[in-house]
Amino acid sequence: MNTTLKTSIDKLIGHKLLSKEEFVALLNENSEELRTFLAREAFAVKQQHFSNQIYIRGLIEFSNYCKNDCYYCGIRCSNRTLSRYRLSKEQILSCCHQGYHLGFRTFVLQGGEDAYYDDTYMTDIVSTIRQQFPDCAITLSLGERTKESYEQLFKAGANRYLLRHETADAIHYKKLHPPGMSHENRMSCLRELKAIGYQTGCGFMVGSPYQTKEHLAQDLLYIQDFKPEMVGIGPYVSHKDTPFKNEKNGTLEDTLLLLSILRLMHPMLLLPATTALGTISPEGRELGILAGANVIMPNLSPSENRNQYSLYDNKICTDEEAAEGLHNLKLRMQSIGQDIVIDRGDAPHI
Ligand code: SAM
Repeated sequence: MNTTLKTSIDKLIGHKLLSKEEFVALLNENSEELRTFLAREAFAVKQQHFSNQIYIRGLIEFSNYCKNDCYYCGIRCSNRTLSRYRLSKEQILSCCHQGYHLGFRTFVLQGGEDAYYDDTYMTDIVSTIRQQFPDCAITLSLGERTKESYEQLFKAGANRYLLRHETADAIHYKKLHPPGMSHENRMSCLRELKAIGYQTGCGFMVGSPYQTKEHLAQDLLYIQDFKPEMVGIGPYVSHKDTPFKNEKNGTLEDTLLLLSILRLMHPMLLLPATTALGTISPEGRELGILAGANVIMPNLSPSENRNQYSLYDNKICTDEEAAEGLHNLKLRMQSIGQDIVIDRGDAPHI
């Protein structure tokens, strides 16, 4: 490593922020030496703030209907080959009950942008979960809705909202989305969610088509400025029925480096080792934890629907990925000295 790079690393560790040029230089370098060094530092920071605890979230993918047509996503509305499903309120509650008994204290309701779940229905679902599981956190990941809708759902008992910004660069955003979709609106939704009081999560795909290191540096600067409680990043993985079917996947190495940088920038961050990371590498999630991540999101959706929530090809639906395989996941985490805890796992300052 050259001296300029070493100075940047010291600055990142000491001051938790870098300039765009310094981020770009780190991302361009991405040598094994750099990754190993930053992962060791990031893991130490994670251990210092969260000890060896790993938070789990029960992911309920409740609908694969989506009005949007994102060029990268397998559940885009133009994908006519996909068989679509919706979970009823009762099915969602049954997933929560199953999850609660397994030890989950956070439920993440994620779906395509599906108008079937209007404010009345969604509020009813959230308030019923809130009544039946008063000691659990409810996280929503429903995409872009109105400010009133976000407020209503917050009042009904939702605590957290995940809305990946996808890219901080408006021109890059246009290359990933059709003309009807607005970067400005997505960013404005994130500001609204935070102002309402949600623990808010943004994020992006690593290695998405047309992404440059400058774009990634812009993402990091945006996160530095926005200060979310959570950041979801995972590699872009292509899907055979999308316009980007021939684009190459994001890499394990780039994702691990970014996880470490994020942990060093933001020591208290709730940072998942995502399913996409586990999809591109069998040990992706363990490596993600060792690079600074502290959250895992096993799947609580009914097993018959898991393949239908097909964002990208070869999404893992193995034993450890499914919530029922929690025991195996615990063993895998123990093998790297980590403990899965029964805890809501809120952002530390909440
Ligand atoms: N509709 C909600 C939204 O827009 O936030 C939640 C569902 S959306 C499918 C969840 C996330 O999946 C997106 O924010 C995107 O980053 C990720 N995703 C979609 N297609 C992907 C792909 N091909 N590879 C990796 N991640 C993907």
